[in-house]
Amino acid sequence: MAKIKMNPIVEMDGDEMTRVIWQAIKDELLSPFVELNTEYYDLGLPNRDATGDKVTVDAAEAAKRLHVAVKCATITPNAQRVEEYKLHEMWKSPNATIRAALDGTVFRAPIMTDRIKPVVSTWEAPITIARHAYGDVYKATEYRVPGPGRAELVFTGEDGESFRKTVYDYECAGVLQSMFNKDSSIEAFARSCFEYALSVRQDLWFSTKDTISKQYDQTFKFIFQRIFDQEYAEKFAAAGIEYFYTLIDDAVARVIRSKGGFIWACKNYDGDVMSDMVSTAFGSLAMMTSVLVSPDGNFEYEAAHGTVTRHYYRYLKGEETSTNPVATIFAWSGALRKRGELDGNAPLAAFADRLEKAVLDTINAGVMTGDLALLCPDPDVRKVSTTGFLKAVRERLEK
Ligand code: NAP
Ligand code: MG
Repeated sequence: MAKIKMNPIVEMDGDEMTRVIWQAIKDELLSPFVELNTEYYDLGLPNRDATGDKVTVDAAEAAKRLHVAVKCATITPNAQRVEEYKLHEMWKSPNATIRAALDGTVFRAPIMTDRIKPVVSTWEAPITIARHAYGDVYKATEYRVPGPGRAELVFTGEDGESFRKTVYDYECAGVLQSMFNKDSSIEAFARSCFEYALSVRQDLWFSTKDTISKQYDQTFKFIFQRIFDQEYAEKFAAAGIEYFYTLIDDAVARVIRSKGGFIWACKNYDGDVMSDMVSTAFGSLAMMTSVLVSPDGNFEYEAAHGTVTRHYYRYLKGEETSTNPVATIFAWSGALRKRGELDGNAPLAAFADRLEKAVLDTINAGVMTGDLALLCPDPDVRKVSTTGFLKAVRERLEK
């Protein structure tokens, strides 16, 4: 059979166990079927160090140019890694660098199989969380207030003081915090959410606490509504999907009673907390995909998990590991499908669908890596190594 041709995507290689799996996925599941066309950037820690992290910046620029990227998990260095890899510097998180360059929002969605049941029994389809990864409590200024006194909020405009408000007249010690956000970031967040909803044809929910936070959270609500009305209402109607806003208390209750199959956009803190709740309730971190979407429609796909260091050290000792490659395979299939959609390359998009189906069918047939076997009580389940799993998927794909 002739291999499927494609336009280039950006390929960002990474570290440790996921780097090993990355190559195995290409050899076993992609190259035999697709004439892989990638612009390759080695974001492995040794090369980031050798290039003074320029490779990460170049890769992010390439993602803006080619519009589609796929990324392997990478080490975010800490003091221990600086020692281990003899680094020149404690380089920044590659994900933070790429997110800043693309001004994007991260969407995390679970990969569901029939074998692994969500803890919430009504959930039939994935719930995707979109987290606004800018500002709020993560960039707050805060103090311990030592004793009685007045706390004020002061804003000084470029042409002088514009307002001053009393926060509280303290009669004893306490705490004080101020936080900020800005319209441009909220607008980018809103556009990324609307773009992503259109790209996956799912409803978009957005929730804040606007009844209590009448300036701050209401600004989020109003900006989303304005951009929706001005730029997306017609596109949503044509795609047969909905946008709706609701108070976060109501959203939480509805999410639990829902069947899933929608995107839930959250402010920074809500998204942090709710994504941990939702991913745990769906099963396993090794089954979460993650895609960074920029407001002007660039897409970077990856697995939500890290480089699986503990397994890598066992691999280095020559032991066979049962590391789950599913989220990394889905990063590739997501990127190939998007390339296919953007270019009208139907065979490429169809290959992405077949690849995902082969993975899910393999798991549903009871063949899975150790992390999933633990979640799956059925007696016919066969735990396999990473290599064994990839071979089983390959067999299905060839059929
Ligand atoms: P991790 O790599 O996600 O692994 C944590 C644990 O979760 C593993 O030890 C393993 O548990 C389980 N696990 C995760 N993915 C798995 C998979 N695919 N198959 C089977 N089990 C899996 O997180 P970490 O150990 O905290 O971080 C390791 C490195 O990854 C760090 O250097 C960190 O900076 C980096 N990281 C990168 C990204 C990214 O690039 N997006 C994200 C997070 C972390 P058991 O050992 O119990 O089997
Ligand atoms: Mg969290």
